Amino acid sequence: KIMKRKHIVAGNWKMNMDYDAGRDLVKAVADKLQPSDTLVILGTPYIHLRNAASIIKDISNLKIAAQNCHQEESGAFTGEVAAGMLASCGVDYVILGHSERREYFGEDDQLIASKIDAALAAGLSPIYCCGEKLEAREAGTENDVVGAQVEAALFHLSTEQLAQVVIAYEPVWAIGTGKTASPEQAQDMHAHIRALLAGHFGQEAADGVSILYGGSVKPGNAKEIFSKPDVDGGLIGGASLKAADFIAIVDSF
Ligand code: PGA
Repeated sequence: KIMKRKHIVAGNWKMNMDYDAGRDLVKAVADKLQPSDTLVILGTPYIHLRNAASIIKDISNLKIAAQNCHQEESGAFTGEVAAGMLASCGVDYVILGHSERREYFGEDDQLIASKIDAALAAGLSPIYCCGEKLEAREAGTENDVVGAQVEAALFHLSTEQLAQVVIAYEPVWAIGTGKTASPEQAQDMHAHIRALLAGHFGQEAADGVSILYGGSVKPGNAKEIFSKPDVDGGLIGGASLKAADFIAIVDSF
């Protein structure tokens, strides 16, 4: 039997949208979104989370994500936000390990693994981002690089915990560059990640994990990428900042 995985389209607003613009964007997405089996997630800056969660609360296929959390439960960590605090705002997901956090904030797989544990302990579902840089793609080592990321961040989890995790494969060379991975490159890596999960957690557990592709997904290329068997959706940066574009991507399934 083939288990049907959840289709997910998640927006990653990054550090964009002041309070009023963010509220308007959440409302516009909420208004345009049709009921469907596709789960739609808005990953907003912290300032929007509470209000966004209250705007979307009656829409069953729309959820809110934070873009980071701290690994500790509470304490003297000025400027940081704990996973439990996010959950208390009505947030259900948290993007962790994004390449921008790895690159600009020094996050490594060990730290990201501890953030994944904190998120799960607080009842949040991590959206775990992995992906190789251009050098690795050119050297042909992308499978090893991404495999090592997946192993370091996820292999310590139980099968029950893995079921709460969403994976986003985002080749760094495709993020914000207008250069997407080809649908075949995405499919190959997603199948590789799923095979690694199957080897460690078993096929059934691996078949249940939604693996999203991220990196310059736009209304014009989403359909072809999403048509691949191991591509279960997308993590959308730039194109998530306009409601019409984002909804067009959601409607690409
Ligand atoms: P992009 O960003 O869609 O603007 O390339 C994707 C991401 O970084 O999650």
